[in-house]
Amino acid sequence: MNKIKKKDIRSLSLEELEIFLQNEGEKVFRAKQIYSWLWQKGISSFEKMTNIPSSLRVTLDEKFSINNVLVDKQQKSIDGTIKNTLKLYDGYIIESVIIPTKNRVTSCISSQVGCSLDCNFCATSLLKRMRNLNSDEIFDQVVFVGEQSKLYLNRPLTNIVFMGMGEPLLNYKNVMNAIKKISSPSGLGISQRRITLSTSGIPKMIKKLADDQVKFKLAVSLHSASQSIREKIMPFTKQFPLSKLLESLQYWYSKTNKIITLEYIVWKGINDKIEDIKSLISFCKKIPSKVNLIEYNPVGNLKFQQASREKVNEYKNLLENSNISVTVRYSRGKDINAACGQLANK
Ligand code: SAH
Repeated sequence: MNKIKKKDIRSLSLEELEIFLQNEGEKVFRAKQIYSWLWQKGISSFEKMTNIPSSLRVTLDEKFSINNVLVDKQQKSIDGTIKNTLKLYDGYIIESVIIPTKNRVTSCISSQVGCSLDCNFCATSLLKRMRNLNSDEIFDQVVFVGEQSKLYLNRPLTNIVFMGMGEPLLNYKNVMNAIKKISSPSGLGISQRRITLSTSGIPKMIKKLADDQVKFKLAVSLHSASQSIREKIMPFTKQFPLSKLLESLQYWYSKTNKIITLEYIVWKGINDKIEDIKSLISFCKKIPSKVNLIEYNPVGNLKFQQASREKVNEYKNLLENSNISVTVRYSRGKDINAACGQLANK
């Protein structure tokens, strides 16, 4: 039977699975066992469910599929970064990256196939949005990269960042469900403190995150604290002005008490003037935050150019002089187009 036609068993809640088993005349407690195989062990076929009677395994296989993501290609950078090209059940391709450092193994995962936003400097935005990832497809990336980390690096995954393809807050429900499965003790058990969601800044959804009392960290791709410049580089922000973004971040802080990371690239001739630094400082003073100055990774023919090291240092020094915490992040995996904003570049 064609795999796609069958429903993915992972789209069922535990209760729905229990009802299914009951209707089949099976024991209801099996639902928890099956759930554990799916969400704790991340297995890829019913055959591997060794504590489930074989007759039930056959029934499950007849009724359902497990549409795991499949590896299409793996590329290793000279700096140890590994980029995985993963194939979805319907043929779409996404990318997940694993970034090892001395103390951490970070997995950068995707939330959508392509992206509906129009950040002019990003490779993924050139793809447009094909579809949202299901929660199991987000979950699978973490399972896959986790196994890869153990295999190649002999270390478990320590951190997860939603900085791959797509805008996670425009796939809210599936991203939240995936994070639940990734972090819960009946799932992969990775603490939410080790998870960061990066958003280009959708105020309404940031408020929703705050209302939902999530425990993970929030990063916002600010890139400019001047509305007119931000609109030029991220045209969709016309709908979401900085004043609304700031208000949503203040709301987030009031509800969660968690400081926000502001991601910021300094581009030559775009946001490298002293006024740009001053606007950023004044933005930061309005919301408990730290700034992450990201190195720009060139994308195809796009005319964006990373500002000089001196400029970046000037930003850093002036921010620090104003008591704003700042880190500079140099990119990883550039040689294999695995760096931020390069996914889907080639
Ligand atoms: N849509 C989300 C998450 C994906 S992008 C967001 O915008 O935050 C992850 C990060 O990579 C964002 O901060 C984004 O602005 C940045 N980015 C995009 N293109 C880049 C590039 N070419 N070089 C460096 N960073 C880039």
